[in-house]
Formats: sequence, structure tokens, C-alpha cells
Amino acid sequence: MPGSYKVVICPYCGRVQLTQALKTFKCINCGKTRALSAGLRILKEFREFRQAHAFILEYKRLQGFS
Ligand SMILES: [Zn+2]
Repeated sequence: MPGSYKVVICPYCGRVQLTQALKTFKCINCGKTRALSAGLRILKEFREFRQAHAFILEYKRLQGFS
């Protein structure tokens, strides 16, 4: 799904975040990069930013993040 918003978990620091990257993900928290093809965990994909953002908020709430 090109151009979609992916909800991913940084493999280095565990931060849940959004990316539109097709090849390389860069963490907004720790700054490390990882190729999507290298086994980056994608929780879900959305077409709309709004939906993706809502998903992250809900996910964090369920995980006990503030
Ligand atoms: Zn990170």
C-alpha cells in the first residue's frame, strides 16, 4: 500500500510511531534507522493519518503509556 501510514514499533527503543517510509524507517525517538525489509514490525497500515493517529493513541493507552 504505497503512500499509506504505517504504525511501527522501533526495534531499538520500542517507541510506537507512524511512518510513511517505503524503504527505510527512521525513529523519531532514538534516531536510528532500519530497512523495512529487515524485519521491521508493522502493526497496522492506514490510508488516513487521522485513523493511524487514533490507532496509536489507543494502542498506547492499552499498553499503559501516557
Ligand atoms: Zn527508536
